[in-house]
Amino acid sequence: MSSNKKYWKSVEELNEDSSIVKALQQNEFVEEIPVDEFLGDKETLENSSTTRRDFLKYVGFSTAAASLVACEGPIRKSIPYVVQPDEIVPGEANYYASTIADGFDFANILVKTREGRPIKIERNMLSENNGSVNARVHASVLSLYDANRLQSPSVDGEDVTWEDFESSLSDKLNGTTGDVVLLTQTFASPSTSRLIKEFTTKYANVRHVIYDTVSSSEALDAFNNKYGVRALADYNFSEAEVIVSIGADFLGDWQGGGFDSSYAKSRIPNHGKMSRHYQFEANMSLSGANSDIRVPVTPSQQQQVLNALTGGSTSGLPESVAELVSKAKADLQKAESKGVIITSLPDVSAQTKVLTYNESVSSVAMETAKPKMVRKGNTAEVMSVLNGVISGSVKGMITVGVDPVYSFPNNEEFTEAYSNLDLTVAFTMKEDATAEIASLVAATPHYLESWGDSQIKKGTFGLMQPTIRPLFDTKQFQDCLLKLTGNSKSYYDYIQETWTSILGGSSWNQALHDGIYVSDVAVETEEMPLSEGGMENSTSHGAMSSTSQEGGLELTLYTKTAMGDGQQANNPWLQEMPDPITRASWDNYVTVSAADATELGLENHNVANGGLNGSYVNVNMGDVVLENVPVLIQPGQAKGSVGLALGYGKTAAVQYEMQTGVNAYTLYENFSSVQNVTLEKVSGEHEFACVQLQNTMMGRDIIRETSLEIFNTKDHSEWNAMPMVSKDHQEIAVTDPEADLWTSFDRSIGHHFNLSIDLNACTGCGSCVIACHAENNVPVVGKLEVRRSRDMHWLRIDRYYSSEDTFGDDTEKKDSTKGLSIVSALSEMETASANPQVAFQPVMCQHCNHAPCETVCPVAATSHGRQGQNQMAYNRCVGTRYCANNCPYKVRRFNWFLYSENDEFDYNMNNDLGRMVLNPDVVVRSRGVMEKCSMCIQMTQKTILDAKKEGRSIKGDEFKTACSAACESGAMVFGDINDHDSEVSKLHKGNRMYHLLEAVGTKPNVMYQVKVRNS
Ligand code: SF4
Repeated sequence: MSSNKKYWKSVEELNEDSSIVKALQQNEFVEEIPVDEFLGDKETLENSSTTRRDFLKYVGFSTAAASLVACEGPIRKSIPYVVQPDEIVPGEANYYASTIADGFDFANILVKTREGRPIKIERNMLSENNGSVNARVHASVLSLYDANRLQSPSVDGEDVTWEDFESSLSDKLNGTTGDVVLLTQTFASPSTSRLIKEFTTKYANVRHVIYDTVSSSEALDAFNNKYGVRALADYNFSEAEVIVSIGADFLGDWQGGGFDSSYAKSRIPNHGKMSRHYQFEANMSLSGANSDIRVPVTPSQQQQVLNALTGGSTSGLPESVAELVSKAKADLQKAESKGVIITSLPDVSAQTKVLTYNESVSSVAMETAKPKMVRKGNTAEVMSVLNGVISGSVKGMITVGVDPVYSFPNNEEFTEAYSNLDLTVAFTMKEDATAEIASLVAATPHYLESWGDSQIKKGTFGLMQPTIRPLFDTKQFQDCLLKLTGNSKSYYDYIQETWTSILGGSSWNQALHDGIYVSDVAVETEEMPLSEGGMENSTSHGAMSSTSQEGGLELTLYTKTAMGDGQQANNPWLQEMPDPITRASWDNYVTVSAADATELGLENHNVANGGLNGSYVNVNMGDVVLENVPVLIQPGQAKGSVGLALGYGKTAAVQYEMQTGVNAYTLYENFSSVQNVTLEKVSGEHEFACVQLQNTMMGRDIIRETSLEIFNTKDHSEWNAMPMVSKDHQEIAVTDPEADLWTSFDRSIGHHFNLSIDLNACTGCGSCVIACHAENNVPVVGKLEVRRSRDMHWLRIDRYYSSEDTFGDDTEKKDSTKGLSIVSALSEMETASANPQVAFQPVMCQHCNHAPCETVCPVAATSHGRQGQNQMAYNRCVGTRYCANNCPYKVRRFNWFLYSENDEFDYNMNNDLGRMVLNPDVVVRSRGVMEKCSMCIQMTQKTILDAKKEGRSIKGDEFKTACSAACESGAMVFGDINDHDSEVSKLHKGNRMYHLLEAVGTKPNVMYQVKVRNS
């Protein structure tokens, strides 16, 4: 149908006879107006027939045209779909259910894709036992676009086709006589287990050994002994009243993690009750930081603590520790079945004691009938492989999803022996240390390009489906195995075959749509046969069994929230993510107590806001020396102990900027997390990038907290008092309109967004930080810039230590100090206590209704939205940074540089592949502008538009931000406070609610819930 509509750019165009329009139609490009010709000469000007009006028209038109040309961006070619896929609507996100199972992290997830590109990971809310969608899982989408990935298979360093690769593999496998080891990660996959069994049946000389890079072997042994399954007990802390952890960082990566949400449920005071959490540990962990009573003890003392709690005596323990052990024991006895003990001690008998105790009290928190299947590795078997390769009894090795040349403890000897094996095959995504010397290297796809299945917890099955076509010429390990076993099926068909019995007639499509399927059907899992006497030989227990060296310290090797076992070392989001405890990024380091640091002459000092410098040490363990390890003095570290994170010090297939830290696997002897070491100070000073150098609150009202007793017995005005100001010599609340300098607006109509953060539920895990990165295209700036305090995180998790034993004592000390002595008292209070209380506080733009940033912006680039958001118009911003200076919360980030397509910042935004992760709904900011949290305005607008399109009202609690959606513990609740039924509205009216720095009068739209401790 023809249209009569007429389009025009200026009113002049409506006049068909206009000479200007005609003239311009002839010129594709606007010609320069010869102003000099008639303006420069008075006579010409006088003779000119150009009227003043025409003159202004010309000038106005050409100026506008020139501005348009100046604004034109570089030309980008785009290729339209030849045949547009039905399921892709440009501008609309598609979500697919899938599963991550990389051997360390296991979770049922949702993958958000835009125009065929996966851009974000979300939690699959259909799965109750969805594993742990932690910061690494959120960041794993970026690893898909890692420019260092292998792009094709190779044989002896030459790229080959898959046909050639598979025929070489088959020839070599058939030609190798003697023991060949298939060394794999834990897959927790029914189909892969079945397939490996078929493979090892066909190739009788192939032995399957599962190797968990970070071992849980002793816990598996203990569980296997008791319950006959090689699995891990599952824990649900939601009903627990007393939780006693001995070294187990269950809010971190202990036994695969994923305990946050049930723990958080028990921590929110409900009907006057909440759990009490004791933590006996050496390193300051996330769990210790969240506990009510944290007791720093060395690993050998932890053994004694466990003995005392499970029937033994406290003799031999320091008096202060013995007292708290007795208290914990009494609490456990009182709690009966509502009490639970857990431990990470690398010792089979310790693990057995814990299982026996929990079973004897019928602990409601422990579940053994449906255990977790996420670890299977057996230390004895892995040691036999390591020794077999070195001794020559193993002739060939096929590795899948593991990198033993990097992560085996005595890797020099192993590496040499490995390179001389008859058969070396590495199935890997990257040319890691093992692939570098393997003769056959199979490029495998990322999990977002793969098919797979899982059984993370017994009875809960998950499916993994590709969400993008493979980016490179890769092939799944399972597809190669099918070919080797002479099976012509694809792995996809093979999975469907396995699932016939799992589904028992239910719909495959529905299971694929949901990503999970719950069934009690028994399926095969990877079982590890124990070698003769294997179980008892499997651990030498490091520090626990051997006598300490003189001047020795007990080392606890741990994994960091950001880096885990090190698989994603080349992921800049994770490298830049500050450690929740130390707040340092881009590094691992030895954590020592202040007392040991003084004895050894080790130091830390601040050199800039963001720059922390520290001494170096050599870590000696027998003949093994780990050189030049930086030292970080850690409040709460047990005296006589040190900590060091695994997963760093990778160089193979890792970009130079991300080759950070030292390889602590060197010290992972017998795969035991506890070792005896000595430290020797060496010269030099390490430069840390640390985003928080002010470690204590010094009695200020930043994090409000109270005890459960006071919470239950006193009015909230006593423990959550509103700050008062004086007006006409009368004390009035700071929120009183009388105290307000601003005009208030009626915000009761339409949506008014608020975000509530419960300080009792927030564990400091940092998932929200990475989710915010992914959603909002937050750039990575690198270590040097972080040291200059120029990190770009829109959301940070502040961590505070008390300077006295508790935060309450800090406040008391400050309030009771009078006169000038307050100066020295406050400077003393800048130092954290030896065993401080810890609190976490996520801080992002507080979206103040009376925003101090808005009043100082000279160009009105930041202003207030109708729905409560404080908005940034990047194009208006001229970069004066007045707003950042005037923000009391310090949440505004200035783009000192252009972080995309800039070789100075060679991270994901500097290559085409890495930029595929960018969210097209959010602009990539440029140099010279201020940016900050937008309360994910693109997400709230999407929710509003979806509801409008579907002609319905918005469902309660439908609004989400990236951080609130990512928070497993439910600490963050986002919504519309004008919807009185919404969760956030109820929280807004609750008596634990307060605003950060309320006394400043900014009236934020972010609120916090007072922390309550049950100590
Ligand atoms: S708010 Fe939630 S996601 Fe963020 S650190 Fe706290 S617990 Fe983790």
